[in-house]
Amino acid sequence: MISVSAYLPNPNSLFHRYIHIGSFFNPVKPYTITESVGYRTKEEMIQAGSTDPFLNSALGHNYEELAYVVFDSNYKNATTLIKDYLNEIGLFTLGRFGEWQYYNMDVCIKKAIDLARLINKD
Ligand SMILES: Cc1cc2nc3c(=O)[nH]c(=O)nc-3n(C[C@H](O)[C@H](O)[C@H](O)COP(=O)(O)OP(=O)(O)OC[C@H]3O[C@@H](n4cnc5c(N)ncnc54)[C@H](O)[C@@H]3O)c2cc1C
Repeated sequence: MISVSAYLPNPNSLFHRYIHIGSFFNPVKPYTITESVGYRTKEEMIQAGSTDPFLNSALGHNYEELAYVVFDSNYKNATTLIKDYLNEIGLFTLGRFGEWQYYNMDVCIKKAIDLARLINKD
């Protein structure tokens, strides 16, 4: 299974990314996820997609307030402070927001397996 992403570094486009997920289905379907930064209504998304010839109708709409890890100028200090504290009190954190890293799913799964091994060893 593979999805193909197309990125649009265009300030005039509401979408910054298309994810073509048709090959997740058997038989393959002509499905695409469109992404935008910030809150957009379903109507805004449909309107933005109306000029794309390959987008015919909207199947769903979802908003995630916390989707991406942001690496700002305070990133290193803040995450080091928090991670050191949690480590000190014996709390494990894991995953994209647990480690505050721009991980994809494969890395999250690998990290979970590694942490489970570490905990079970002790
Ligand atoms: C738009 C988008 C597209 C992506 N595309 C891909 C892709 O194509 N391929 C890929 O590999 N990865 C992709 N990712 C990344 C992938 O989704 C993440 O890497 C993965 O989901 C992170 O897993 P996680 O377990 O760390 O966190 P999450 O999947 O975010 O799970 C954390 C869970 O904890 C819950 N939670 C949060 N706070 C609390 C609380 N206080 N109490 C109880 N529960 C809580 C949340 O509701 C959530 O269910 C994408 C991410 C986004 C946002």
